[in-house]
Amino acid sequence: MQQLTIALSKGRIFKETMPLLAQAGIRPLEEPENSRKLILPTSREEVRLLIVRASDVPTYVQYGGADLGVAGKDVLMEHGGEGLYEPLDLRIARCKLMVAGPVEEVPPHGRMRVATKYVNSTRRHFARQGRQVEIIKLYGSMELAPLVGLADCIVDVVDTGNTLRANGLEPKEHIADISSRLIVNRASMKMKHEAVTDFIHCLEEAVRDHG
Ligand code: AMP
Repeated sequence: MQQLTIALSKGRIFKETMPLLAQAGIRPLEEPENSRKLILPTSREEVRLLIVRASDVPTYVQYGGADLGVAGKDVLMEHGGEGLYEPLDLRIARCKLMVAGPVEEVPPHGRMRVATKYVNSTRRHFARQGRQVEIIKLYGSMELAPLVGLADCIVDVVDTGNTLRANGLEPKEHIADISSRLIVNRASMKMKHEAVTDFIHCLEEAVRDHG
């Protein structure tokens, strides 16, 4: 039996991926929230789950640390998707990548400053519009940056918009619709073809059933 290693992150992606994996007969034997283990065995002996940071999932799959992974399109756009196949939209963890700024907009002096952890997507978005902006890299709590004058606006993922509203911000421009994708290591696709394609087909059906 061919071993399959699947990388994914804790939290929203893990919770929303589990019902899809269950339909392929894969259930983790431990919950990542209650376990310190980073490799979780599953009800299918040949399948194991790697718990990694969301932004590290494409890297693990690209270099073959995992055969497969579940990653948000926001993370994949930032990574560039090199060395990866992206065969399936899992239609989970949906949100939008947006430019957001203060409800009471203040015109910037000079170049607009944009705070974000999505540096590449932000650069591409404003370059497409022919706008020169200064990008300030942050690792979290982007909403804070305009409130303290660190930036004029932010680029972040938005679901309900509650976090923006709670901080006096509002969506300004839509950049991309986001959902989680199944990604596959290119060598695994060849070397473990049967196991990988069977798995993709199971998940395709699960996605269809979860509508
Ligand atoms: P919201 O529902 O817009 O208030 O989103 C709550 C927080 O969760 C925000 O700070 C977003 O950055 C984050 N968020 C929302 N949806 C997602 C998602 N699908 N993946 C990752 N982070 C998200």
